Amino acid sequence: MTSEVKLPVRQQGDIRAYGILAWLLISLVWLGGCTRGASVVAAELTPTAPLVQATPTPTMTATATATLPPTATATPISLAARLPTPTPTPTATPWPTYAPTPDGLVRTLRVPILMYHYLSTPPADADIYRRDLSVAPELFAAHLDRLLAEGYTAVSLYSVIDALQRGTPLPDKPVVITFDDGYRDNYENAFPLLRARSMPATIFVVTDFIDEQRPEYLTWDMAREMLQAGISIESHGRNHFSLAGRDDDYLVWQALGSLETIEYELGVRPRFVSYPAGEYDQRTIDIFQSANYWAGATTVQGAMLNSAQPFELPRIRVRGDTTPDQLIRLLTLDW
Ligand SMILES: [Zn+2]
Repeated sequence: MTSEVKLPVRQQGDIRAYGILAWLLISLVWLGGCTRGASVVAAELTPTAPLVQATPTPTMTATATATLPPTATATPISLAARLPTPTPTPTATPWPTYAPTPDGLVRTLRVPILMYHYLSTPPADADIYRRDLSVAPELFAAHLDRLLAEGYTAVSLYSVIDALQRGTPLPDKPVVITFDDGYRDNYENAFPLLRARSMPATIFVVTDFIDEQRPEYLTWDMAREMLQAGISIESHGRNHFSLAGRDDDYLVWQALGSLETIEYELGVRPRFVSYPAGEYDQRTIDIFQSANYWAGATTVQGAMLNSAQPFELPRIRVRGDTTPDQLIRLLTLDW
């Protein structure tokens, strides 16, 4: 007698089947492991180049966004509403897109930057301030002709900053022509006179005033037309409020708000700011610099520019009664 328990044939077949099934399963699991291992190795061996390419090259814009407080992105509400509309085709301008990289040298250059405001004959009832800020078109034409006769060459602020930061040569007697506030008479009276003489200039505009379509100020169409003809349109803030003694959020709102509006309307980014009423402090400079502005124009009188202080460019105020003779004297003063 054997004690062996004989299983029915059917059950023996089942055990064999289970055995084969178990073996198959183990093999599958093992194979799966190998495949996973292989894919890990493959991933490790794959050159990292695509990852590097996927990382965007740091641009000026990226820096600005990173440096500015979180509120920066949420800033101009009205703009956010308009942004879905396609941006106009960028205008071709002779100006560079990126700031000239400073070569490490500190330079001082004598470049007079003239500051005009209104370019019209003031109304009869104008107060002393308005009269002081208004240069009649005939007088302006005489200024320009005198500058040319004396051998001056009008250059853009872009050429000046390039010369300051990299030593790019400027013409012999350079002069910059700027206008603050963006009055409509700049388009009606100054623009034709400048264009007829192929002289570049800069207009610092108050973007809210243009958006509100105030009749005394430029329209965006006028700004676009002038931009095409070599007049650069830069920032004078959003609403002409003082930029001194303000907190970061407010300064970001002024710096980015005016920048985004100009870029949206004209397709080019402003790189220069003129501080309203000439009021600014170190915080103003820091915020405008972090928003990728390149330089700032003050109302400090002078003509000596310093590459270490691009946000404190002095200017020369031209008044309603500045004669061409006086203008030339101002230019040659040892400021
Ligand atoms: Zn102003």
